[in-house]
Amino acid sequence: MGRTAAVSAATSLRLLASPELRPRPAPVPEARRATATTPPAPLNLGLIDYLDAHVTEVVTHVRSLPGGDAAPAPRTPGDLYDWYIEHTAHADADEQAWRDYITERHALEHAIALGEHKAVRPHPCPRCGCWSLFWDDAGTRARCSISDCRTPDGMASSWTLARLAAQKVQRTEIWRRNAT
Ligand SMILES: [Zn+2]
Repeated sequence: MGRTAAVSAATSLRLLASPELRPRPAPVPEARRATATTPPAPLNLGLIDYLDAHVTEVVTHVRSLPGGDAAPAPRTPGDLYDWYIEHTAHADADEQAWRDYITERHALEHAIALGEHKAVRPHPCPRCGCWSLFWDDAGTRARCSISDCRTPDGMASSWTLARLAAQKVQRTEIWRRNAT
């Protein structure tokens, strides 16, 4: 089960949700302060939407489970993944696999949102199996650095974070089955 991903996702989400990370107005020199017409920077609405979307995805999944609509809401974004594990503890295996996939994907998305592009490196390339992925911020995809690793159309291999998360959960399932 994706306990490591849950801890990682929670740590990143706490950072993203902390007010210190939101942009503050640039300091204005004393002499200009009286005449400055620039309004204070607004809250980072993009970040708020980002946090809302991720919390909503987790809460919606839990609420869709039998008895899930009785679960109290998570208290803070930092508690979200502990809450997720707690309220899926008795869910069936498919739902737990889905939870693990969402958690893995969130861990990757939060890391990338914090600028931790190396977060894709522990994931092997789904095509060639090499530890060769790097994050392409402009393309918002992970790319493989192996020049021969190409699609049947000859395009360089690139992957969404969702694809990498799905691969990770599937591998975990395979390892667990092999161990028993
Ligand atoms: Zn590759």
